[in-house]
Amino acid sequence: MPPRVIALAPMPPEKAAYALARYSRSPDSIESSLRWVFDHSAEKFWEQFYFDYGHASIADLGHAVVCFEDISELAAIHVEDERLWDGQAKSSRYQDFARLGYHLPPELSAEEAARYRAGANALFAAYRELFPPVERRLREKHPRPADMKEGLYARNVAARAFDVVRYVLPLAVPTNVGQVVSIRTLEKQIGHLLAAPYPEVQDLGERLKAAAAAPPLDLWNRLGASAAPAPREPLAATLARHARANEYWRRAYRVLEQIGAEELRLGTPEPAPLVDLVPEQPLEVETVATLLYRVSHHPYRQIAGAVSEWSEAKRRGVLEAALGGREREELLPEFQSGYRLIFDVLMDVGGWRDLHRHRRCQQVRQPFTFAHGYDTPPLLAEAGAEAAYRNAMDVAAAAARGLAPATAAYLVPFGHRVRCLFKMDYAEVEYVSRLRSGVKGHFSYRQVAWEMKRALGARHPFLAERIEATPPWVEDSLRR
Ligand SMILES: Cc1cc2nc3c(=O)[nH]c(=O)nc-3n(C[C@H](O)[C@H](O)[C@H](O)COP(=O)(O)OP(=O)(O)OC[C@H]3O[C@@H](n4cnc5c(N)ncnc54)[C@H](O)[C@@H]3O)c2cc1C
Repeated sequence: MPPRVIALAPMPPEKAAYALARYSRSPDSIESSLRWVFDHSAEKFWEQFYFDYGHASIADLGHAVVCFEDISELAAIHVEDERLWDGQAKSSRYQDFARLGYHLPPELSAEEAARYRAGANALFAAYRELFPPVERRLREKHPRPADMKEGLYARNVAARAFDVVRYVLPLAVPTNVGQVVSIRTLEKQIGHLLAAPYPEVQDLGERLKAAAAAPPLDLWNRLGASAAPAPREPLAATLARHARANEYWRRAYRVLEQIGAEELRLGTPEPAPLVDLVPEQPLEVETVATLLYRVSHHPYRQIAGAVSEWSEAKRRGVLEAALGGREREELLPEFQSGYRLIFDVLMDVGGWRDLHRHRRCQQVRQPFTFAHGYDTPPLLAEAGAEAAYRNAMDVAAAAARGLAPATAAYLVPFGHRVRCLFKMDYAEVEYVSRLRSGVKGHFSYRQVAWEMKRALGARHPFLAERIEATPPWVEDSLRR
């Protein structure tokens, strides 16, 4: 018989995974497997192979499309914080966020809520107030080319203006995220969301679990007049039933916070450049430093310096603490150590949010804070809007003072700095430097992408020269 290639229409993910798993273990054709699976309950198979035998990779064979609407940017970051994740989020570079409102954490007291509102309102008022002068200044600087229609020109200029005014958007601003993930990732994601330190994110975990246990929205088949009605099956009932909060992660991060507070007395964080390609360390030092970096506000270099002077016993104590209490959960992501190219980046939250989307690297972000200060795009001064910007940023920081870190984080504006480690292989440095330095990119991450190439050049000049990155001074503001 000649070889055949058979594409299958989408089907419920647990069924798809069951059919493909059965296909790999029986002489049947895929058609026979599908017929068999259609007539049999998948539940027993899942209970036995996935949960009892621990064949987790079976769940990679079924995929689900899930959308999250009107969640805060902070929650969206947690949703996207999965290594094997495909998706898109609403763009703060191309969409107007002026009148969307913001997430108000219900755990705030009345007095705290009033303060929080004052901070958030000041930021959104600034977003609306800053846009016209910034847009005007951009039009002066970059007049419309004769061959560009006004509509396209207006959209391009607006996008560049959003690049600037988004600096005042707080992490409380609502957004939408659409994802396509395997149900293996979905189960882990539910566990991570349920264990996050934010009630909104935990609630999202419950909602995701409920969505997995219910039949999915089947609008597409209903829209097709001739399509047969699809069976109203739950999306992934067995996984939804078993999904649990990842207690191991929750506990381990709490213990690490304690260890960091007690053992890592580093004083004021040392000044750090935008991008620091940190020295290589032995694996144990790198792992311990990374675990503590995740719960700290200090530069990696400072933490690794201290950890490398600790006794081996003390380092092993941290490793034991971070390994303890694990059942079938994966190790904390900070154990994904052993990279030779580690960039410690201190950049604006908005630009980091864009870089967060790169998955072929290990990212370790520190908690959001007002402590690192904020960036000021030069265009604000050119547009005569810098004072209004600074005022809104100061009002937000003052409003956040005294709030618990988990609620203050919502008020952190995109212009404030966040510290994040990017552990990469050379191919990813090449990819990110080339892609993110391009003229269509945001000026903030363009600079980071360029600095990554430069930092690499100091250590591996030949490899850095081979990266076709675009210098930040090459601009084309009317291209998107
Ligand atoms: C100008 C611009 C505008 C954008 N606008 C938006 C927007 O509006 N909304 C939005 O949500 N995003 C937006 N993005 C982000 C974009 O959609 C991507 O998410 C982001 O650029 C990461 O791209 P990537 O998937 O190619 O890179 P990476 O995730 O870094 O992947 C690099 C390569 O590795 C592969 N890979 C990924 N993960 C793994 C893995 N675990 N193991 C091995 N290989 C892997 C990928 O398939 C790819 O080939 C924008 C990006 C740019 C540059």
